[in-house]
Amino acid sequence: MTKALLIIDLQNGFCPGGHLPVAEGDQVVPVANRLMKSGHYDVIIASQDWHPDNHGSFASQHPGRKVFELGELSGKPQMMWPDHCIQGTQDAEFHPDLAVSLIDFVQRKGEDPAIDSYSAFRDNDKNALTGLDRWLKDKGVRELDIMGLATDFCVKFSALDARNLLPGVSVRLITDGCRGIDPQTVAAAIAEMTAAGVVPITSDTILSS
Ligand SMILES: [Zn+2]
Repeated sequence: MTKALLIIDLQNGFCPGGHLPVAEGDQVVPVANRLMKSGHYDVIIASQDWHPDNHGSFASQHPGRKVFELGELSGKPQMMWPDHCIQGTQDAEFHPDLAVSLIDFVQRKGEDPAIDSYSAFRDNDKNALTGLDRWLKDKGVRELDIMGLATDFCVKFSALDARNLLPGVSVRLITDGCRGIDPQTVAAAIAEMTAAGVVPITSDTILSS
């Protein structure tokens, strides 16, 4: 039974001090490291938000728009984010304490300026796949555990896509390995993931199994 760990966007930009910080985002780094070093997983994947500096999800690209308000991108509703995780900048690097040498595969996303990509599997319009589903299928992954940042955006969309694109694969959400942007949308996101068949679990339970 091939087991995989998918770590979502554990980058400086989403940790305190970053350009789009998630409260306590850095606190999940030790959880990731403990899981990676445990030997529980056959393959370890990390996603990396990797935007060009003119990415259309940035409020800076929409004159008159403010950050964190709802705007439009390519004719569709789009949250206006601060500039974040720009390719090649420190903001886009993985958190410096993350045990990156244990990561087998890095899936970058959000490179097309005309569309955002919360999910590690495909763009928000659900057209362009990143190829991660194929990579996991090729490895014969049957169990996929997901953690990272942020629960109510990139983690949620990645987990829902995993359920959609990987039929027959057991998908679990490592709850103590996630932090979210807004407590209300975090609760809704967990409910939505659970309804889609994603099973919440803690890292302690995984490591004691
Ligand atoms: Zn982004």
